[in-house]
Amino acid sequence: MQLTVWTYEGPPHVGAMRVATGMKGLHYVLHAPQGDTYADLLFTMIERRKARPPVTYTTFQARDLGSDTAEIFKTACKEAVERFDPQAIIVGASCTAELIQDDPGGLAKTLDLNVPVIPLELPSYQKKENWGASETFFQLVRGLAGGRTPEEKPEGAPKTCNILGPTALGFRHRDDVTEITRLLGTLGVEVNVVAPMGATPHDLTRLPNADFNVVLYPEVAGQAAQWLKRTFGQPIVSTVPMGVNATRQFVREVAELVGADPEPVIAQADERLSWYSLSIDSNYLTGKRVFIFGDATHAIAAARIAEHELGFKVCGLGTYSREFAREVRAAAKEYGIEALITDDHLEVEDAIVAAQPELVLGTQMERHIAKRLRIGCAVISAPVHVQDFPARYSPFMGFEGANVIFDSFVHPLVMGLEEHLLGMFREDFEFNDDAQASHLAALHAGAKHETIEIPEAQTAPDDKTQDVVANGSVAASFGSPSWTDDAELELKKIPFFVRGKARRNTERFAAEQGVNPITIETLYDAKAHYGR
Ligand code: SF4
Repeated sequence: MQLTVWTYEGPPHVGAMRVATGMKGLHYVLHAPQGDTYADLLFTMIERRKARPPVTYTTFQARDLGSDTAEIFKTACKEAVERFDPQAIIVGASCTAELIQDDPGGLAKTLDLNVPVIPLELPSYQKKENWGASETFFQLVRGLAGGRTPEEKPEGAPKTCNILGPTALGFRHRDDVTEITRLLGTLGVEVNVVAPMGATPHDLTRLPNADFNVVLYPEVAGQAAQWLKRTFGQPIVSTVPMGVNATRQFVREVAELVGADPEPVIAQADERLSWYSLSIDSNYLTGKRVFIFGDATHAIAAARIAEHELGFKVCGLGTYSREFAREVRAAAKEYGIEALITDDHLEVEDAIVAAQPELVLGTQMERHIAKRLRIGCAVISAPVHVQDFPARYSPFMGFEGANVIFDSFVHPLVMGLEEHLLGMFREDFEFNDDAQASHLAALHAGAKHETIEIPEAQTAPDDKTQDVVANGSVAASFGSPSWTDDAELELKKIPFFVRGKARRNTERFAAEQGVNPITIETLYDAKAHYGR
């Protein structure tokens, strides 16, 4: 077992907690030592949930290990059912409790509880959080929907689907569900059940009634959806609607299933990504190198959007979701790169340094790494920090999700440009650090006058001196080259935010070449020289 300060995924019982916490009317009895209750904080602190997760921990202590820990579990189980009165319970062990081999499932059965008990076998030392969420959801679906017969629907009843995959602590799951429910509504499709998030155990018994399943997060719901397909013949909508193209593809796939016309929905989509991507502002960003790392679904989608919808260049792609390594490898191949499959953030950091991206799209780990490397970054995948549970509506899926994605991916680069410009402005007489803000000019009339009166030519010696000091240039030994009037006029045609640099470069070039005075020709020779 590898101990680490940062980890992309917790143990599988945290995945089970994400399912239980997302649902209603379900309780999780977790055989766990004192201290494992820290996991509550993930939900109450990072996701800002109003309530504690519906989990009872047995919280056995070191001194209990010599006595009957099985009895402690049974007592906790009985008390949890009496106190919380759930529709069903799931029972399992955390990493440490797994070692004492108490068999929570077997113990719960001996209690003859009056609620369904779904035992979880989650191998903590081989599997991780997403696998734990997937296995828990699958066991719940199989346990509660298994053996049911789908209800007969009246003639002409609207088509229905289940939305599968959203959990507690998921990246933008809450808003994705709202967005996709609305999108399905525009095609005349009603949502039968959303699960796990928001569903009760009773709702899971109704899953077979839907005409098809929409899987938003394959990491969590792919396994359960496959079982529903095998058992009840429910088709799966395989496109994850992230980005404009995938959302259009999703609409077409659903429309085909329900016999609707997708084109009016696509034509009326309120998405701005396509137009913004074509705008002049965005064209400055074409070909920007982007490094992407996250869970498989978000990483693959982010790469596709970055390359095909925003015109960036994907220079790195990877995932910590080992179960989906094949899919990520196939996606990376499309961009001519090799996928990085790892759960070691230090390896990811090395890969980012080697790829030299201008933008990093990742989890909160990559956010930390990018910040340290001073590279623009956006978070696209769990694990995330508190700011990725925004109070405002902020989906990543559907057409509005595409708008959010445009903002998230493009603005860090725009801010990078702004920083760059600020650096250049700083050397300009109008924008140096001592200049007053223009809107405060009336309050600082004297200062304004003083600032504006500084002739540009007077700033040149200082600039040159700095350059000589910084670059060891020979310019100073030649004194200040003079400029012909024509050359000065030509210099003024250069945008003010790069004019200072152009002046310095030209003077340095003239000094090195022994040219004096500087003519228009010298100015262009210098430009050609430094542009090589
Ligand atoms: S890494 Fe971020 S989310 Fe995690 S504890 Fe630190 S501040 Fe909070």
